[in-house]
Amino acid sequence: MNENNNRNVRDDERSVNGELTSLIDDRDLSRVVLSPEEQAYEEMIRQRIRARRRASERKRIKRNRTIALILVMVIVLIVCRSCYAAHRKKRDEQKVNTESSVAEKTSTKKENTDSNAETPAETVESKPEEPEHKIQQVDGLTFVDGILIVNKTYSVPEDYAPGINTAAQAAFDEMMNDALNDGVYLYINSGYRTYDEQYNLYYNYAYDRGVAEADKFSSRPGHSEHQAGLCFDVNSTENSFAGTTEAKWLAAHCSDYGFIIRFPKGKEKITGYEYEPWHIRFVGVELAKELTSKNLCLEEYLGVTSDYNLAKDPVSQEEMAEQLGVTVGDPNEVDETQEYEETDSGYYDNGGYSDNGYGY
Ligand SMILES: [Zn+2]
Repeated sequence: MNENNNRNVRDDERSVNGELTSLIDDRDLSRVVLSPEEQAYEEMIRQRIRARRRASERKRIKRNRTIALILVMVIVLIVCRSCYAAHRKKRDEQKVNTESSVAEKTSTKKENTDSNAETPAETVESKPEEPEHKIQQVDGLTFVDGILIVNKTYSVPEDYAPGINTAAQAAFDEMMNDALNDGVYLYINSGYRTYDEQYNLYYNYAYDRGVAEADKFSSRPGHSEHQAGLCFDVNSTENSFAGTTEAKWLAAHCSDYGFIIRFPKGKEKITGYEYEPWHIRFVGVELAKELTSKNLCLEEYLGVTSDYNLAKDPVSQEEMAEQLGVTVGDPNEVDETQEYEETDSGYYDNGGYSDNGYGY
């Protein structure tokens, strides 16, 4: 820019010099002696040149200032605009964040509401009255919601000997008659059992097969429902009973008389016993129908366990074996099948457990 200005100045000089050239005609001015008029004229020309120079200098400065001012204004404008853009972007982002967080909160709230809506339904389905169950201990007996519970967790005293429950007996008699009218013959294989009878029964199984195996299908003394007089083993207590006309009739109709299949198929881990299609427990018609229709075993309905380890006085299988003087595992592990077949042919037929009229 400086160079440009200089060039402009020089141009000015040249144009002024053009006027002089005509006067001095390229001669050496230093050696020319000028007349006063000529000197005055020269001075006037010089002043005019200086004035022009100053004017052009002022113009240049003014122009530069204007350019600088415009530049500054442009810069300020750009800075302002970018600042505003940044600010607006930030504000938009915040807005979006706020909106999304609100949306998230709303959805979370909605999910919560949904899960809240689901929870009661689940509670109703899986744990019906768990907090409402009332467990009462009366003379060594355990009642849950007024229902006597006898299983691996809950026992009855050794001297508890009520005999068969009269209501249960009456219900069975009625059922037996109705079954007979349908051409189905039902009879009591095993009903009431004393503590000692249960002891002998269990001992025999434990002696033959070990405590671990006996615990799967036979109750330890004091832990049998048979001692409470509320259950019956109907017809056969062998696995072959399952699927027979009698078993089917029993499963289909026993709830009408107040009985439940006490150890149902698929509930083994809850009841603590293998499936027993012959063992029915009297609970009254209303409860029997409810349990059957809901496919619940008694432990599920009452919200209780059936586990010797959870009993008030837990007895492990090792301790039980020691008390009885038997083994925990199978004592006939070596060549088991052959030995049974040779010594007691037919006793363990059909893979079931015959109890010779005792039941489990
Ligand atoms: Zn039984």
